[in-house]
Amino acid sequence: MEIPLLHPHDDTPHDACGVFGIYGHARAAEAVFFGLFALQHRGQESAGICVAGAHGLAGHTGMGLASEVLTPAVVNRLDGAAAIGHVRYSTTGSSNLKNAQPLIVDYARGQLAVAHNGNLVNAYSLRKELEAGGSIFQTTTDSEIVIHLMARPLNAPLDEVLVSVFRRVRGAFSIVLLTPDALIGVRDPHGFRPLSLGRLDDAYVLASETSAFDLTGATFVRDVAPGEIVIITNNGIQSLKYGTDATPSLCIFEYVYFARPDSRIDGRTCHVVRKALGRQLAKEYPVEADIVVAVPDSGNSAALGYSEQSGIPLDIGYIRNHYVGRTFISPCQVDRDMKVRVKLNVVPDVVRGKRVVIVDDSIVRGTTTFSRVSELKKAGAKEVHVRIGCPPLRFPCFYGIDFHSHDQLIAARHTIAEIQQFLCAESLGYLSLEGMLAACGGGPGFCCACFTGAYPVAIEEQANKTMMERAHKIIQKDVPASVASAELGSAPAPADAPVAEAKPARQKRTAKAKAKAAAPAAAAAADRTDRTDRTDRTDPASPAAAAPAAAAMDELFTLQ
Ligand code: SF4
Repeated sequence: MEIPLLHPHDDTPHDACGVFGIYGHARAAEAVFFGLFALQHRGQESAGICVAGAHGLAGHTGMGLASEVLTPAVVNRLDGAAAIGHVRYSTTGSSNLKNAQPLIVDYARGQLAVAHNGNLVNAYSLRKELEAGGSIFQTTTDSEIVIHLMARPLNAPLDEVLVSVFRRVRGAFSIVLLTPDALIGVRDPHGFRPLSLGRLDDAYVLASETSAFDLTGATFVRDVAPGEIVIITNNGIQSLKYGTDATPSLCIFEYVYFARPDSRIDGRTCHVVRKALGRQLAKEYPVEADIVVAVPDSGNSAALGYSEQSGIPLDIGYIRNHYVGRTFISPCQVDRDMKVRVKLNVVPDVVRGKRVVIVDDSIVRGTTTFSRVSELKKAGAKEVHVRIGCPPLRFPCFYGIDFHSHDQLIAARHTIAEIQQFLCAESLGYLSLEGMLAACGGGPGFCCACFTGAYPVAIEEQANKTMMERAHKIIQKDVPASVASAELGSAPAPADAPVAEAKPARQKRTAKAKAKAAAPAAAAAADRTDRTDRTDRTDPASPAAAAPAAAAMDELFTLQ
């Protein structure tokens, strides 16, 4: 019997990855394991560690959570005083073992391991150039490009090679590299993704988020600056600046959603920022209501802020099942509402007969928010008012977050009034861009491209998750055209969409892109062909999972 695998997570955004590194610690692999455990929210598809030991670099990678892949037997085998680790959510290249990181190679300079958080936006052209010069790639990730660039003949010391390599790649990258005698951390010149430096006893530590320091017992020293390379060896730490003229563009979504609430980025704790987002939301979208309910866990902090500002009591209207992990194996077929209930269950006695404000971090497709509103009403809520702690997501992200196209974003295709109607909510309020920036400490210094369309770094035409896949054109034939076109929909962009300040190169449409736009079924199939190799789950973006929800949405809009 075929056992359906459900993904209990919803259509919320997913981050690219988390990285951790340590140098000068007797039990380096153990420290990395705990660091990855704290960073697990940044990627659940694969995990891995590489250590620098007496016999050079050695590593282990596997598909699954850090605790599944990095068993005690594995960690105990990885002996060495320096190590790096990685948890992955794939945004360039398929989710499979060969793309799991750290990538480890032997090359002319010795041995090298790489673990990367973010997306390189000029990966396609760099890979073409490298392949034309004879490079043979082992993976379909953009991260491998760094290795090939490091391997180019250059008669120079390591620090000069690093500067030369990272001046060639563009986009979002917080990277840790390991050689037998050095730990290296690199943050892109715009600083899209966080990377922090800490100390654990005499060891140096690098991590995507400071919450990983807390679990390992490390203390925060400072953030690695945008455009900085830190090289840690037995001689101490060396800092190189290689791209200081770029405008800082920290991903504001790290504050809104991605980073753990207990992580500090640029000196601000995410929970505190999210409470400020909620307070601002209450000022911008007040409503007469009886209770405020958070969508756990991502809406917890903002809901608390909304409640404090509005004076409306906060109550627990949803109970989260904390034993639901990455996947849920059901013994039978279930509908979408049950998939939502697997993770969050409404408490009827709390919401019955009440005017409820639900606070969430963001809306991507809208289908899960629709189910949540629907569950509240079934439980007897008199009114449901939806409040979102960021502006409408109207533009794709090419810097390491998994909404790559307008078709995945309900706010790219519909007005706020239409979305409210789709959600069947009494009111809908999104935080303003100005309000979000103010709550995050004020701009500039942030990337807000998914809200504004103003991309800090121009995107190559070919940039998408499957750009490195050579087999996808064959696989896409297996995806039914009706499924693909149902998910894409055909409604126009909303009239109130903000005007882009700086159009990325990607928006210059070539004949090929126009042909792709004219054939939405084929394009959608191509965008998700890489997901066909996932055998351990039903992904929410897979044709099977998305089609019924998308069909329901299209039907609702047709009935207006
Ligand atoms: S486009 Fe949005 S999600 Fe992507 S880096 Fe910029 S702010 Fe973050």
